[in-house]
Amino acid sequence: MFKKDRIRAILPELEAAAGRGSVRTDEGEILMYSYDAGMARARPEAVINFSSPDHVAPVVRILHKAGIPFLPRLAGTNLSGGTIPLKGGAILNLSRLKKIRQIDTAARVALVEPGVVNMELQRALEPFGLFYAPDPASQKVSTIGGNIGENAGGPLCLKYGVTVDNVEKLEVVTPEGEVMLLSYRDAGPDLMSVLVGSEGTLGIVTHAWLKLLPLPSHIKTISAAFPSADSAMGAVTRIIGAGILPRALEAMDKVSLDAALSGKISPFPPDTEAVLILELDGDDAVKIKTDLEAAHKICAGQGCLAFKAAADEAERAMLWQARKGAYPALARLAPDVLVEDGVVPRPRLPEALRETREIISKYKLTAGLLFHAGDGNLHPNVVFDRRDIQEVKRVKKAGYEMLKSCIRLGGTISGEHGIGVEKRVAMNWLYGKGELAFFHGIKRAFDPAGLANPDKILPVASDRPAAKSGELAGTFVFPAKSALGPEARGIVDELRLRCAAGTPTAVTGLGTRLKHGGEAHGARPLDLRSLSGPAEIDAENLTARVQAGVPMKEFSAQLAAAGFRLELPALAGSVGGLIASKVCPEIRGLLLGLEIVTAEGEILELGGKTVKNVAGYDAVRLLCGSMGAYGVILAATFALASGRDEAAAKFSEPEAWDAFEPSELHRRLKREFDPRNLLNPWLYGK
Ligand SMILES: Cc1cc2nc3c(=O)[nH]c(=O)nc-3n(C[C@H](O)[C@H](O)[C@H](O)COP(=O)(O)OP(=O)(O)OC[C@H]3O[C@@H](n4cnc5c(N)ncnc54)[C@H](O)[C@@H]3O)c2cc1C
Repeated sequence: MFKKDRIRAILPELEAAAGRGSVRTDEGEILMYSYDAGMARARPEAVINFSSPDHVAPVVRILHKAGIPFLPRLAGTNLSGGTIPLKGGAILNLSRLKKIRQIDTAARVALVEPGVVNMELQRALEPFGLFYAPDPASQKVSTIGGNIGENAGGPLCLKYGVTVDNVEKLEVVTPEGEVMLLSYRDAGPDLMSVLVGSEGTLGIVTHAWLKLLPLPSHIKTISAAFPSADSAMGAVTRIIGAGILPRALEAMDKVSLDAALSGKISPFPPDTEAVLILELDGDDAVKIKTDLEAAHKICAGQGCLAFKAAADEAERAMLWQARKGAYPALARLAPDVLVEDGVVPRPRLPEALRETREIISKYKLTAGLLFHAGDGNLHPNVVFDRRDIQEVKRVKKAGYEMLKSCIRLGGTISGEHGIGVEKRVAMNWLYGKGELAFFHGIKRAFDPAGLANPDKILPVASDRPAAKSGELAGTFVFPAKSALGPEARGIVDELRLRCAAGTPTAVTGLGTRLKHGGEAHGARPLDLRSLSGPAEIDAENLTARVQAGVPMKEFSAQLAAAGFRLELPALAGSVGGLIASKVCPEIRGLLLGLEIVTAEGEILELGGKTVKNVAGYDAVRLLCGSMGAYGVILAATFALASGRDEAAAKFSEPEAWDAFEPSELHRRLKREFDPRNLLNPWLYGK
């Protein structure tokens, strides 16, 4: 059947499921949905407008049966081509699903449909003294569904986490049209967190239960003007390193500031080259005052030209208008803007900044630099004109070099804007074949037919690895895999031998949990206690890497001795065992990276040392609760807080934490990662 006929053939079925007039194939509609806020373009075959979340599953079943690709779309403000239908098919337009169904003030949870605009939710919450933390600069138009699709961040995410940290539960329509309810608290691997940031490639969110927070009693907003962007970045690292946790710590360079002020008189001293916006909140006014004084001293030490508190709400709104309005202001300088989204470990920000500047100058481009500085997240906004082919080439090359620079500095290629189609090729630079194969396994398990937003996130054949591509070739050197210690090498070698012999393995930490007793089906224990030793604490970046066999209590003691802590209750068991068993689901929020070995003996590095990372699927969280059956955890990297924990919360383990009955999706994932069921085989034995 010709492509143009395949929608026509199922049109009556689709309209029966979604309502009369819901399926549009007219030229105007097709053109409108051929582009989004990114640079890619492609035409859908149909646009299906939904009036009820209940219509999504039946429509997806029809499309799945017909083998027609589809993708969910909301406001289309994503900056990576995420809503471009690369293989045609249907756009599922969910933007009319904008009901806030419930605000549960006691449980502090809101139940919303995906089309609710972020800012409208905030407005609805305010009278109840509550707020929803993720606050992307696009929040006046971007939606909760799109924010979930991209795992969006925003200024407040420094203190309150990104979208995934603020979602309690999701109702999801799978690419085969089944309806699932997923929470990160469910026993077993954390499927909910994998869905967040999956850009419509693993399923469609039809309802979301969002975590709400009480509005703080006090908020103080400060602007600090600096004579150079370097000195501003120096202040950022020192503020966080001093144990001050602002609710936001944002930066703008002079180009962005001038664009945002657009002719108005600048409130900053004439030599200002960069401005930090620092915002502190809480219920303890004295603590805020002390932190502000400390931040003032730090900024002064970095040559700050002016450190000024917003006098009233109007001045505060003006500062945020300048920061959040900087992108549209830059967009007025030229017909097009490329917004990059690299992340580096926070202490590497000054280097990242220097390299970004050199790249901009090398390619003779104009760019305003905006930073979620506290998160190490850089947004160079390169302005250009797409009608100038030579300039477009330079912009592309510059963008790629900026991403490579972030990778080289130990960072990642996207902190919040996603990979979509525009950064697919860069996935080859960030990850090795093993990690990419792991991601492909996730995609196949969720979407065996490959119909949900196809050709997004994961490189396709035409995205040649950088070294082989003329356009991308250069002096780029791939960062080496982190050096595993001899004990970890020993575990890997042993697992490879067992893999060759087909010997099932019972992965064993301290033996606190994951008791297999008589049910181990003859699996040989693999004792991970040898993975011990002192944690590698990066005091400036506030992260620590620890081997999986270290008892959590010992790790906590090591951190305390160095003046740091993990914001977790006291837990018994090894680090690896606690992650794998997910006895305390909150562990996911502190976990930045995992080094694992698969059942086939392949070493994978997932995540890393940055606090934000949306490059690829969230395999780190998927492994939380995987109970040793998807891979053996060798080492983990955590985000730390500074200072001693005055009141380490008491924690009572849930009684049924291991009442895990694998679903069909868990089993598919198991088949992808461990096709011979060699790791903890009793869990999937039935
Ligand atoms: C001026 C400007 C400022 C921005 N500032 C920020 C910022 O500060 N922080 C930030 O993180 N981003 C920012 N962005 C990027 C963008 O706004 C975010 O990615 C936003 O989350 C996208 O929401 P949307 O409603 O536009 O979703 P869309 O662009 O329509 O969709 C985004 C992705 O999610 C998928 N998707 C849509 N609906 C669903 C669903 N129901 N279930 C599953 N997947 C779905 C889509 O297929 C797509 O892949 C900015 C963009 C602009 C233009």
